[in-house]
This record gives sequence, structure tokens and C-alpha cells, in this order.
Amino acid sequence: MASEHDASPLVGVLALQGDFLEHEAALHAHGVRTRQVRTAADLRALDGVVLPGGESTAMLTLLDVEGLWAPLGATLASGVPVFATCAGLILLAETVENPAQRSYALLPVTVVRNGYGRQLHSGTFALRSDVLPPGTTGTFIRAPRITAVGSGVDVLARRGDDPVLVQKGPLLAACFHPELQHEPHPVVARFCGMVREHLAAAAPRH
Ligand code: GLN
Repeated sequence: MASEHDASPLVGVLALQGDFLEHEAALHAHGVRTRQVRTAADLRALDGVVLPGGESTAMLTLLDVEGLWAPLGATLASGVPVFATCAGLILLAETVENPAQRSYALLPVTVVRNGYGRQLHSGTFALRSDVLPPGTTGTFIRAPRITAVGSGVDVLARRGDDPVLVQKGPLLAACFHPELQHEPHPVVARFCGMVREHLAAAAPRH
């Protein structure tokens, strides 16, 4: 096992359900170590957290079963960089509709589950963004639609007019799945940059 003092950052990937393996592979491609998070003990000494895509209702059930709801919430609110995709974004959102459901409410956005329709409307779409390289695309799978954005939330990319990549401080969230796209994705690179900056700021000075 890698030591906690290893130079490369360590990101915990919630691994109860969903596409956590793809997130781990995407992070490894950027030189970031990962740990699968299934228990409260797995949350110790992390430099970042990923909430993957999957089914948010199933994740809520499993978080309760594992006793992980409150410990994970404390980590998410601690200021450590967080990257949430799709179902992960639903877990972070302040307001969830279609139907309403419990969430950590750390990100002041409203999301409508399956807001682009079901499987029929899944696919890879062009993104409009001032911060991502031209031509960047996003893969949407039964994605939530962001219908309202609160104060302090930066919209980093849109699909048409809809916000699909948002950030508030250390919380980065996407309606789409950069971890499923084959080439190293600029959104994963952005998150890894946030993690490295956080680690550098936290490192003891000599
Ligand atoms: N539709 C799922 C949900 O509501 C999210 C889909 C995804 O993560 N790709 O939780």
C-alpha cells in the first residue's frame, strides 16, 4: 500500500454503486492515486473525493446501509476538492426534483433527475465553455438537468443554454461523464489540478 506521505495525491472514490472504476482509471491517467470508499474508515487522509455516476436513489440507500451518510457529508463539507458526476451531482445539489429526494445540499443548484429524457436522449454533445478547450464534448446518460443556479456558483460549461459543468469553491460537478470518454478529459484534468493545489496548500512547510 502506498504511504500517506507519497508525493502523488490520494482521491477517495465512492464505490457503493455506479461507474467508480472508470473514475479511478481516469484519475490514474492523470497520476493521481485512488482509494475506493465503502466505509467511514476509508475517508481518512484524502486529498479529494469523487462521487461517481450511477443511480442516486440506490446510492442513498447504500449510504444508509453502510452508515456512511453522515461521515461522507462531513468530508464533503470539509473543504477538500470534490468532483461529482451525474448521480453524484444529484447527491450534492441543494434541490432535487422529479421526484424530490434527500441530498447533501452543499451546492446551491436545482436539478431535475432524468431532465433530458431517458435513454433515448443519452449521447455525446458539444459543450460551450470559456474555460475548456474548443471542441470539448460531454457524454450524457439519463442526466440530471440543472434548472437553477444559486449565488457563488460558476457555470463553466453549457449544453445549449443549460449549465452542465458548475463549480462552487472546492465543489466541481458535471451533468455529463468525462470519466467515460476515452481520451484524457480536460474536466478530469481540472479536478486533478484542484487536488494538487489543495495538497500543496496543506503540506507542511520546511
Ligand atoms: N438518472 C440517474 C439518477 O437519477 C443518474 C444517471 C447517471 O448518473 N448517469 O440518479
